[in-house]
Amino acid sequence: MSPLLADRHDVALFDLDGVVYLGPRAVPGAPEGIAALRAHGVRAAFVTNNAARSPQHVADHLSELGIPAEFDDVIASSQAGAHLLSARLPAGAKVLVVGTDALAAEVRQVGLEPVSSYTDGPAAVIQGYHPQLRWPMLDEAAYAIQRGAWWVATNTDSTRPTDLGLVPGAGTAVAAVRAAVDVDPVVAGKPFAPLMTEAVRRTAAQRPIFVGDRIDTDIAGAATVGMDSLFVFTGAHGKADVVAAAATPPTHLGWDLGALLDPVRDLAGTDRDRRCGTARATLTAAGPELTGIGDTRAEQLDALWAYANLCWHHPDAISTELLDRLDQLP
Ligand SMILES: [Mg+2]
Repeated sequence: MSPLLADRHDVALFDLDGVVYLGPRAVPGAPEGIAALRAHGVRAAFVTNNAARSPQHVADHLSELGIPAEFDDVIASSQAGAHLLSARLPAGAKVLVVGTDALAAEVRQVGLEPVSSYTDGPAAVIQGYHPQLRWPMLDEAAYAIQRGAWWVATNTDSTRPTDLGLVPGAGTAVAAVRAAVDVDPVVAGKPFAPLMTEAVRRTAAQRPIFVGDRIDTDIAGAATVGMDSLFVFTGAHGKADVVAAAATPPTHLGWDLGALLDPVRDLAGTDRDRRCGTARATLTAAGPELTGIGDTRAEQLDALWAYANLCWHHPDAISTELLDRLDQLP
């Protein structure tokens, strides 16, 4: 019997949207899964690129959903961004804040002075998501950066999911400023290292694992800092994204975060002939083959694990027709 995945880790770092909650609702099973994980002795912490809401606000929302959380359990890109600023600037330095009051509060928290105009002579600009962003603030940022202010962005997500559809995310406002200046921002949020490093520092994790629903931010962010990761199917990305993740493959796959308390999925064979459970993924002269696919979700996860590991070494093995046979997986 393989050990449980959770036995390998002291801290589980969770992405929020698509892993723990979907907008206003908890992902089915997430409250029970996190409670069981904590009972197993693993610390849970929550890592968000969203810099518009305060960590306390996020903790309160989690608690309302049945996932008890405190301020210290939430690590936000606003905090990681403020930490970047405080590591580089002298105490009391002025920082132009293009973002919410919550972002300005983080700047103040690290001993810097938030300002709102380039005429204040800011040493740096920090930019984050603001649902009521006023365009003139982008002008202020451009003026300050052109005058030598150091530029930090909390995150560069190009879109933000809402219950009515996608809307422009923080990354679009960052791109608007970038169009006017000659430098790139230092980015705190996933998939860049500062937020991941901040999460490890704050939790004092020795063997962390990151749980996420997006390859390009969560799983890539974990890979950036050499952290293990668990990809789950409860959010944005699906099986086609997984097989195409050769650059930053997840360390583990699970249907949802409850997979932390499952045995570690094993893998046998060679890079042209992968086996997991009853499934076998092979690259032959005639093309890729995927055999022994079971009907259950768990069996199909085994098959995807074998097949994805084949595709990560051999991109020409990627086949929509084979993926379609895994009809239990999105
Ligand atoms: Mg997510």
